[in-house]
Amino acid sequence: MKRAGEKQIERESLSRTNAAARRRRPVSRYQLKIALSYLIILSMMLVLLNTYPVWISRDFMFSNTRDVMMSRASDLATTLSGTDMTPESVALVMNIMDNQAQYRTIVADRHGFVVYDSLTSGSVAGRYALDAEIAGALTGQDSFRSAYRDYAFDSRFAMPVTSHNMIVGAIYLSRLDTAQGKQLSDLIARLFAVSVVIFAVVVIFSVIIALALTRRISVILRGIRAAHEGDYAYRLPVRGRDELAELADRINQFFSILRKTEGQRQQFVSDASHELKTPLAAVRLLTDSILETPDMPPETVREFVADIGNETDRLSRMTEKLMQLSRLDTNLPEAAAVTDPAAVVQKVARMLRPLAKSSGVELHCELAEDCRVIGAEDGLVQIVYNLIDNAIKYTMPGGSVRAFVFRRGDEAHIVVDDTGAGIPEAELPLIFDRFYRVDKARSREAGGAGLGLSIAAEATARMGGSITAESEVGKGSRFTARFPLAGCDDA
Ligand code: ADP
Repeated sequence: MKRAGEKQIERESLSRTNAAARRRRPVSRYQLKIALSYLIILSMMLVLLNTYPVWISRDFMFSNTRDVMMSRASDLATTLSGTDMTPESVALVMNIMDNQAQYRTIVADRHGFVVYDSLTSGSVAGRYALDAEIAGALTGQDSFRSAYRDYAFDSRFAMPVTSHNMIVGAIYLSRLDTAQGKQLSDLIARLFAVSVVIFAVVVIFSVIIALALTRRISVILRGIRAAHEGDYAYRLPVRGRDELAELADRINQFFSILRKTEGQRQQFVSDASHELKTPLAAVRLLTDSILETPDMPPETVREFVADIGNETDRLSRMTEKLMQLSRLDTNLPEAAAVTDPAAVVQKVARMLRPLAKSSGVELHCELAEDCRVIGAEDGLVQIVYNLIDNAIKYTMPGGSVRAFVFRRGDEAHIVVDDTGAGIPEAELPLIFDRFYRVDKARSREAGGAGLGLSIAAEATARMGGSITAESEVGKGSRFTARFPLAGCDDA
């Protein structure tokens, strides 16, 4: 009762978890992550697009302006160096030199007194120059400063006027270049417009891609939830050939394996309980008969108790085999060992010789000693024991059982053949299935549960080998187990 209650609580909490997972909508978070990462990358690219070309253009314009101003200033300085730097002579030179209106030109004498200023209103002529550039030029230094502000380049250039290696004055040019400023502001505006378009397009595309991607992921999640709730028959749609399609395909394969395993597990549990029920029912029946019959003759009681003993023996054999099977199912990796199949067959033959003798069956072995296989000895003993035990069980008194070990190519073969009842051809493919018995009555009588051959086949497969059966009804059977050779003693 308690177990059923626990299961109910477990189921309810599971469905609550699933409902909560659905409510939390992890998919939309994923959508957001994808969209955000696109937007961050895009924003970085757009910032770069809007700054780098502007920097390059601005620097180019600066250096261009500098070159032009320097050339003009040099021309003026060369011409002025031959004058006495008085306002009159400088004005004369400036007239001859065709004063270019785009520059404001200031000429100062060696004391920093402004002897010429091309500006008419706000002229500083007749005063001492306070500009740092003119002061620098009077100490022999050229200087250039340019800045882009308010859509214009504000540039200044100053240079000394020298005569016979003496500084006799300074020239100062300044210019507010709106034409170049406009070029740069146009470039900035155009880059911004292009960025807005790129941003809009990428946002739309990233939303579409994020939606498409997460829709496919949510389909996969739906499948996983269905399988989580026990619906292993669920199949995910596999569209395209990308990683998500491969993921869906792999998950489908995984669901198929789960479905098969679950089916096998249910079948195994139901077969095992059925098989265990029969001897238990017999024990119950026999004990009830003894208990309900007070005057039962002692010989009959002894007979019944002996039967109970036989049934419990059968039960313990069966549980031992079930445990062997469950050990094989756990798939724990085996310690790599090299085993001599001839020694194993000899050991098993020694164990089963008394059974063969009591069954009136002759047991004969032909063993090549030059084979070694990879696998634990216990596993090989299970295989050989089940094969020879069956051969003895299903052979009439007077018959014979032979076991062979030999090499064939790069394989070791263990063959067990008998002159027993044989197996109908149609049933040969089924005898390795768990709980399958050809002659149920005979098998039960011989103490079998239909597990021996499935244990042998599974243990053989674990050692990398295979097992086959040939048989003819009334003549006998031959079981061949093949294993890859671990090495041979050729000597
Ligand atoms: P069991 O425990 O019943 O012997 P197994 O798995 O070992 O189960 O064998 C499955 C069935 O195959 C047996 O019930 C029997 O009918 C048949 N079988 C196995 N080995 C032989 C054999 N050597 N000769 C005839 N029938 C056999």
